[in-house]
Amino acid sequence: WVVASLTKKHLPLARFIGDGAAPSAPNFDVVVIGGGHAGTEAAAAAARCGSRTLLLTHRVDTIGQMSCNPSFGGIGKGHLMREVDALDGLCSRICDQSGVHYKVLNRRKGPAVWGLRAQIDRKLYKRNMQKEILNTPLLTVQEGAVEDLILTEPEPEHTGKCRVSGVVLADGSTVHAESVVLTTGTFLRGVIVIGLEMHPAGRLGDQPSVGLAQTLEKLGFVVGRLKTGTPPRIAKESVNFSILNKQTPDNPSIPFSFVSETVWIKPEDQLPCYLTHTNPRVDEIVLENLHLNSHIKETTRGPRYCPSIESKVLRFPNRLHQVWLEPEGMDSELIYPQGLSVTLPAELQEKMITCIKGLEKAKMIQPERYGVQYDYLDPRQITPSLETHLVQRLFFAGQINGTTGYEEAAAQGVIAGINASLRVKHKPPFVVSRTEGYIGVLIDDLTTLGTNEPYRMFTSRAEFRLSLRPDNADSRLTFRGYKEVGCVSQQRYERASWMKSSLEEGISVLKSIEFSSSKWKKLIPEASISIVKSLPLRALDVLKYEEVDMKLLAKAVPEPLKKYVESRELAERLKIEATYESVLFHQQQQIKEVQQDEALQLPKDLDYLTLRDVSLSYEVREKLHFIRPETIGAASRIPGVTPAAIINLLRFVKTTQ
Ligand code: FAD
Repeated sequence: WVVASLTKKHLPLARFIGDGAAPSAPNFDVVVIGGGHAGTEAAAAAARCGSRTLLLTHRVDTIGQMSCNPSFGGIGKGHLMREVDALDGLCSRICDQSGVHYKVLNRRKGPAVWGLRAQIDRKLYKRNMQKEILNTPLLTVQEGAVEDLILTEPEPEHTGKCRVSGVVLADGSTVHAESVVLTTGTFLRGVIVIGLEMHPAGRLGDQPSVGLAQTLEKLGFVVGRLKTGTPPRIAKESVNFSILNKQTPDNPSIPFSFVSETVWIKPEDQLPCYLTHTNPRVDEIVLENLHLNSHIKETTRGPRYCPSIESKVLRFPNRLHQVWLEPEGMDSELIYPQGLSVTLPAELQEKMITCIKGLEKAKMIQPERYGVQYDYLDPRQITPSLETHLVQRLFFAGQINGTTGYEEAAAQGVIAGINASLRVKHKPPFVVSRTEGYIGVLIDDLTTLGTNEPYRMFTSRAEFRLSLRPDNADSRLTFRGYKEVGCVSQQRYERASWMKSSLEEGISVLKSIEFSSSKWKKLIPEASISIVKSLPLRALDVLKYEEVDMKLLAKAVPEPLKKYVESRELAERLKIEATYESVLFHQQQQIKEVQQDEALQLPKDLDYLTLRDVSLSYEVREKLHFIRPETIGAASRIPGVTPAAIINLLRFVKTTQ
């Protein structure tokens, strides 16, 4: 990446200090532009780190607005939320106060890839988020549209790059800041599309940010164009739920936050979701009317993993696609049809919806359903701390970096806010590595590979997913957040410390209790323990059996185990630690093996695509083929190339040399 050295001479159009910025303008350590999911986390994180922070956003009453789906979490996304929470971020706690249906996805697979998810009451989330933000110490919230950045000449002792030192609002007023975080979402030159109609807007009902987009372009930032969309909402009373599959919430509900004992609502008071499907008639309506649909005709990329119904019909013809009917809130009369994002003209949307089972009499509620196209900034222009290469102390976070989703935005927000604050204090940046968290995977993917379609998180993107689990995000990040940065409260730190020491103690106790397998079988008849006479079995090994949990184990051996079931969370985490003990040990051995052979040269003529005798997924083969790493070490650093793939490749190369 070529980093230009910018000075006033190079940037005649950007505003420099002395070009009209009032000297008496208010002064903040950190200014965050945009009160969406990235901006709220960034502003709160900077304030938690002790910086005097200003959150500037179009409207205070849209803080906490969920522009699209009324849900948080999911596979990979739930992991991000746990990590945001481990750094004392907001969204997980707010979700625990605002959900209406909590359900963990992927339960059939191991806990490392469970996806914590909940349907959220939009109004409650907004209210709770606004309450939190407006009561955060050191944080000032102000309404206003930022139109421009104020820059200072390069500091000679630094890299020669110019520095941001404030912002200019639409009314011409200015605010001085030591660091600025930009989190403007879909607003940069946003255009809303319904059918063949297009008009400038950041979101339905909101103005786009044109001035700021122009400033960024003038500064030399590389800008791309992406699109996304949202489905029409449906009147609840018009849906025939009686003929649809009902999904009930989990009992008990698993909270998102480490500091929530439980969620605000009992499982029996939560709302159900319903499942229906598209059919060939839906395909026909979409295909017959493609000429009336500007959004779908545009070549701009939309979200691959949350595509519009038009994209699904075009990419996967003749398939039935799931449509989840999700509640929008406790007292909401609206249903969100997840999977039916569409930009056909309104009358055709209704025609399409009413041919779906259960929706025959569905009434669409105006004015929702639309597509939005917007500018994003190539994320290879930012560092792992989310500071831009081009302008010192300017940070980007959220959808502006090419991501999609509230959780991805929140994860970047918390990191940008922390680093904007650290920058002011002249402290080293806070970077999460790929081995430490999904946040690290997200930021590493963005900053090294960039993206040309809206990026969303999946567990498959993480090479070390057995250790990056939702249950242990606190042990990975809370201590760093507390000690290195100061963004974590004393109360959370103490809770994480208690959990860490209880887990260590519990595991060592479980390792120390040993009986013969036949004795274990008598103690826990429910367990399918195979009787191997000669070998004693540790309690930790017994806990690995699927049907054994800490409660059963503590019933069999009350002393000293009963104290470990007093906390439900501790008991569950001990079970998860036991499940992964040997796999993680094995993984550590493999990592050591790779480290020893890091410098091993990979044959230059290796044809990864056709290579037999070595087990590699097609995705890994493609990456190796495209990047052609010189050594095993270089191959292991390619995002998405798993440790298992590396060990297979290593062993193959060693045996063939
Ligand atoms: P936003 O939440 O958009 O917040 C941006 C904030 O910045 C707003 O509050 C705005 O008022 C403020 N702002 C902008 N410009 C300025 C300025 N110049 N001055 C002051 N304030 C400013 N995600 C999915 O995962 N799946 C989907 O299907 C999906 N569909 C979507 C459909 C639509 C129509 C939209 C709009 C978004 C959709 N998303 C979807 C994306 C999801 O909403 C975003 O990824 C997430 O909200 C991004 O958070 P953010 O903080 O980056 O931006």
